[in-house]
Amino acid sequence: MTGLSDPFNRPINYLRISVTDRCNLRCVYCLPPEGISLLHHSEILTYEEISTIAGLAAELGINKLRLTGGEPLVRARLSELVGMLAGIEGIDDISLTTNGILLKDYAAELKQAGLKRVNVSLDSLNQRKFQRIARHDKLNDVLQGIEAAKRCGLNPVKVNMVVMRGINDDEVIDFARLTITEGWHVRFIELMPFAVDNPPDGHSVAGKGSLHPGFLSADHIRERLTVLGKLEPTPSITGNGPARYFRFSKASGTVGFITPISRHFCFSCNRLRLTAEGKLRPCLLSDSEVDLRQPLRSGASPRKLKNVINGAIKAKPRQHELDRGQGSGKRMMSQVGG
Ligand code: SAM
Repeated sequence: MTGLSDPFNRPINYLRISVTDRCNLRCVYCLPPEGISLLHHSEILTYEEISTIAGLAAELGINKLRLTGGEPLVRARLSELVGMLAGIEGIDDISLTTNGILLKDYAAELKQAGLKRVNVSLDSLNQRKFQRIARHDKLNDVLQGIEAAKRCGLNPVKVNMVVMRGINDDEVIDFARLTITEGWHVRFIELMPFAVDNPPDGHSVAGKGSLHPGFLSADHIRERLTVLGKLEPTPSITGNGPARYFRFSKASGTVGFITPISRHFCFSCNRLRLTAEGKLRPCLLSDSEVDLRQPLRSGASPRKLKNVINGAIKAKPRQHELDRGQGSGKRMMSQVGG
């Protein structure tokens, strides 16, 4: 293994794997209320196929995997997949991004199977608001899931909040306070304009919804947090992501900012994405993708499959173009392994 890098000399060592396009929430910025047309079961990669691809990627130099979706925990027996991936030589970190609803049921077995850590998406601490954003009344399940993950040692548990002006931005201080009182690691994410109708100039989030949120930059959020004290930069906690981290002086937790819009981090992008139906995407925010499922199912040799992976890496764009008015492609976050 010599290590992978793209045409812009960025090392590529991180693969995000979407295990399903299904989700048990309908967050207003992510999915329409009626959901999306779903893949047939036979179109979705089996666990064996995912493992084969991860194994080839590991031989090429990938050493970190993250499972995502859709909602990864709605796929049956996810811990079996974790166990298979954990057995691949060269893979030394497996993490999960989840909405947390089912985490209390699965945290222990996932940890046992080899999962290292989880990121939990949580956009409101207020039950009614949670329901408006996620279109389901599941706040308590998520909070229980976060506690279960901590108890099982899936640490650090990072809590990701997508901030929307006029929707949940009044809660950024409450979330940040939890880094002091509860040691939470909270990351504020800038709203991205996905195929759901949610332009960053902020006039709607999803379809005909009655919500009128908008983009709020990380600098604005940070400014608001000064009422809690001074935020000092702190080294990145465990992980491979693009967040910049800070800490209040008395906090054991951290505040992170993920700024795909106001300060993109493409220059340090180290990742590839595998969609649930087996397409490899070099960039979340571009529709370019290469198919691995068809060659895999028609018996292509490992060398051929590795060539396909290398082809995706060669196609990695220098940077996304959201700030130049280019959209995020035709597909939604839940379809491309967000
Ligand atoms: N279901 C899992 C979850 O909720 O974490 C994994 C998939 S979800 C698509 C992954 C992350 O993408 C979540 O943190 C979600 O909030 C975020 N996300 C989805 N659409 C987004 C958007 N338009 N802008 C910013 N973040 C978005």
